Amino acid sequence: MSGTEELLRSRGLRVTRPRLAVLEVLADGGHLEVDEITRRVRERLDSVSTQAVYDVLGALSRAGLSRRIEPAGSPARYEARVGDNHHHVVCRGCGEIADVDCAIGSAPCLEPNASHGFEVDEAEVTFWGLCPACQSRRSADR
Ligand SMILES: [Zn+2]
Ligand SMILES: [Zn+2]
Ligand SMILES: [Zn+2]
Repeated sequence: MSGTEELLRSRGLRVTRPRLAVLEVLADGGHLEVDEITRRVRERLDSVSTQAVYDVLGALSRAGLSRRIEPAGSPARYEARVGDNHHHVVCRGCGEIADVDCAIGSAPCLEPNASHGFEVDEAEVTFWGLCPACQSRRSADR
């Protein structure tokens, strides 16, 4: 049994070929859009519908095996790096996303000065800026 199969079983998920393929694609790293995931899954499996990939991603996210992020103005992306409360830096120019380790460690990273009675468990932190490629493009345009 592969490590990926064990991972699925450990979360109580039935092992299916689409689930294995999506997990393997995510394990390669990065923050992938559904279209990209579907394209890579199709390289491994003969046929899989986009809807099937959405279904798998939903099941994996609910089981805590993948994380969905959705920076403003960008389609949803999925990653396999879960459970460590890391944050993201997003490029305003091209939408490139990179991981940023949390300086605090555990959620919530920030304590609101008024919680309005809410039990706060997370602060969603996204850093925005320009990636190296967009920075050099910008200097070239000048
Ligand atoms: Zn960029
Ligand atoms: Zn990430
Ligand atoms: Zn943090």
